[in-house]
Amino acid sequence: MNKCLLCDQTIAAVADLNMIFSFRSIVMPVICSNCTQSFVSLTNQKTCLDCGRLLKQVDVCSDCHYWRQHGHQFSNKALYEYNPAMKEYMSRYKFIGDYRLRQVFRNELSQVIRASRKVIIPIPVSVDTIKHRGFNQVTGWFKKVNYYDVLMPIKKKKIIAQSEKNRQQRLQTPQPFQIIASAQSVILNQDVLIVDDVYTTGTTIRHAANLIQAAGARSVSGLTLCR
Ligand SMILES: [Zn+2]
Ligand SMILES: [Zn+2]
Repeated sequence: MNKCLLCDQTIAAVADLNMIFSFRSIVMPVICSNCTQSFVSLTNQKTCLDCGRLLKQVDVCSDCHYWRQHGHQFSNKALYEYNPAMKEYMSRYKFIGDYRLRQVFRNELSQVIRASRKVIIPIPVSVDTIKHRGFNQVTGWFKKVNYYDVLMPIKKKKIIAQSEKNRQQRLQTPQPFQIIASAQSVILNQDVLIVDDVYTTGTTIRHAANLIQAAGARSVSGLTLCR
C-alpha cells in the first residue's frame, strides 16, 4: 500500500482496466485523491496569454498589460494555480527541501516539457541554495528531459531580495543572470522553453528570456508549474 507523500494517508489501490490495457506504463499515484483535489489545474482553462494566470473576461491580465506598455511581451504557460495548497507544497519541497516531493508533479510537468519539442532551459539556483538545499527544484521535476544549463546566476540571495520589493522596483531589477559563453551555440536559431517553478511577478523569467532572445534564439517562451 502506498502512502500519500503529502498527508500520509493510505492511497487506495485502483486497478483501472483502461490503464492496464492502454499499453502505457502504469503510474502509481504518489498523493491521495484529497490532496490531488486541493490543487487547481490551469490546463484547458482560459488563462492570460502572457503569464498563464486564470482569467475570465480579457485575454491579457492587468500586470501583463503593464508589461506590454513597457515593451515587454512574453508568453508563459502555467500548470497550476498558486493557491494555499500549492504554497504549502512549495514550502515543503523548496524551503524544507524534501526531495521526495518532486514526484508529485514530475510526470505531468515532464510530459508537457517533452511535448513542446523545444530547447529546455531551467532557471538556475544560486550556489548557496545548492549548498543548503542540495538540489534545483526545477530540474528535480525533470524526468527523461534533455535540458541545458545555459543561465548562470549573478547575484546571491535573489529570491529574498525579490519578494521584499514592490512592483515598480521589481521592473527595474538588474539582470540576475548571464549566459554561459560555451553554451551559446545551444540557443542559436532555436525555439527555447524556459522552465521555472512559480511565475510571481514575472521578473525572473522575463529577464532570462531577454538574455536568451538577445543571444540569438528564434523564439522564447516560458513554462512554470504555477502562477
Ligand atoms: Zn494526501
Ligand atoms: Zn498576465
